[in-house]
Amino acid sequence: MTDTLFPNARRDNLLEWLRQYKRATIDDLAAQFGVSGMTIHRDLAELVKTGAVQKVHGGVVWVEQATPPAPSTDGRCEMCGVAAVRMPFTIRASQQVLTACCAHCGLMMLHGLEDVASLLTTDFLYNRTVSAKSAAYVVGSSVQICCAPSVLSFTCREDAERFSHGFGGTVMDYEQALDTLQHH
Ligand SMILES: [Zn+2]
Ligand SMILES: [Zn+2]
Repeated sequence: MTDTLFPNARRDNLLEWLRQYKRATIDDLAAQFGVSGMTIHRDLAELVKTGAVQKVHGGVVWVEQATPPAPSTDGRCEMCGVAAVRMPFTIRASQQVLTACCAHCGLMMLHGLEDVASLLTTDFLYNRTVSAKSAAYVVGSSVQICCAPSVLSFTCREDAERFSHGFGGTVMDYEQALDTLQHH
């Protein structure tokens, strides 16, 4: 059932549908996605904010983007151009997927971005993909393998603290790291 999807997932699908068919009425979309017109109205209000679609009388039209929101398929950091292979940070917003080489660039790239649906970073020790919001970060350690200041992600704070005992740097949570990177 489409109705059981999370709002963001339905909006993703809605956006993809509009990208393909360019225009629709509220009734069309309600029938297509198996939800009420009111729900479609709410979803569209969110999507309009992203600039991807525009409301017209009785419906909605897809807005062609001046700069196409192409996902970064070449695997390079959108911020600095370095190959994002060792510890990629991925930002999924309602109309684009952005890849950064590391948490340093990823956190900086978040500045001014709206409608972020998911944030993933890479655990430095175990090379696992983890939620960036629940990760712990070591900022400014002597282990400098990507951007400066070095920002390394850890699944849990305990690992981050042990790492920091050996290699220096400051242990931060997501909010603190974000604040440090964006107002440096
Ligand atoms: Zn980068
Ligand atoms: Zn980097």
